[in-house]
Amino acid sequence: MIINNGMIFCDDGVFRKTDIEARNGIITSIGEKLTNHEGGAVDAQNCYVVPGFVDIHTHGAMGADFCDGTSDAIDTMARYQLSKGVTSFLGTTITLPEEQLIDICKVASTHVNVVHPDRAVMRGVHLEGSFFSHERRGAHIPEYLVDPDFAMLSRLNEASGDNVCVVAVAPELPGSLEFIKAASTLFTVSLAHSEASYNEAVTGFTTGATHVTHLFNGMSPFSHRDPGLVGAAFDCDAYVEFITDGIHIHPAVVRAVFQMFNENKICLISDSMRACGLPDGQYDLGGQAVTVVGRKVSLPDGTLAGSATSMPDCMRTAVEFGIPLTKALKAATINPAKTAGIDKDIGSLTIGKRADIIVLDNNLVIKNIIFGGDLLDIDSINKP
Ligand SMILES: [Zn+2]
Repeated sequence: MIINNGMIFCDDGVFRKTDIEARNGIITSIGEKLTNHEGGAVDAQNCYVVPGFVDIHTHGAMGADFCDGTSDAIDTMARYQLSKGVTSFLGTTITLPEEQLIDICKVASTHVNVVHPDRAVMRGVHLEGSFFSHERRGAHIPEYLVDPDFAMLSRLNEASGDNVCVVAVAPELPGSLEFIKAASTLFTVSLAHSEASYNEAVTGFTTGATHVTHLFNGMSPFSHRDPGLVGAAFDCDAYVEFITDGIHIHPAVVRAVFQMFNENKICLISDSMRACGLPDGQYDLGGQAVTVVGRKVSLPDGTLAGSATSMPDCMRTAVEFGIPLTKALKAATINPAKTAGIDKDIGSLTIGKRADIIVLDNNLVIKNIIFGGDLLDIDSINKP
């Protein structure tokens, strides 16, 4: 497989007009005049050639939710993701009773890193919950919130086949620091749905947390005398994920984040729920009724409850808001792969990595998807 003449988004964050070649599903060369046409050729003249997108925070799509706890739901999400150019994702939970989360993790364990030709690869589990503040719970169901409990986390990780990649926690809760200390030796700890003051959040980071879940949403505001979790994330050089769907965050704040935070640590996420890819209407989110209008998903009281957008759409929206394409692309590929610890084989166009490659036209619309070195027939995947 060879892709000729495109603007290749190289792993140093720079575009270069050249060719890229894959053999046996792996990127084998990037450079001039490559000739391996075995497995097909793509002419990428006037196009961007970028890594497959990596969505580390997605709950569902096309009527399916990761927390349905079924193989069918995971497959449905995975097909939708691949149709959007997302080649790797983390199945993301919401706050639920432990027994239910255990069952969800058990089903997930049979899917992690399993490759199908028509589905994005689920690289692991992102536990969003259940260790959150009541005040900042967002759409998380209050009855199921619990204080940080490392024994519970260990049971969930075991059920997932040791495939938890990210766990989210509010650092101000009782037992949180012990939890962060222990959990951060195993995987990425993210601060989330939290009332933490600046000092409490700094302590969370110095104890081992390295990431913030949907920055600005589900936390106290970034204020000039009380900078809270957002200010602490800046001072502690944390990874920050956020939803640039044009609804969760004002365009000016999107621009400010890309100026303020380390461009190698900003991650775009979809936070998509089951209505993503479906028409407007009433849907269920963990037993709660939600209304979807366009990209906006809300509870009856107006609280935002995830999104109905895809991560590449967030990337395009960020660029519309004025973010340089190279920064938006890093935030959609290598940065999320790194923070989740899944960047060894994916996340960039690097020789030796898996050949998950997207060809985008000038308007950033997907022209081709090369998945594990195979050119996909985009129309044959589950396209909404
Ligand atoms: Zn979420």
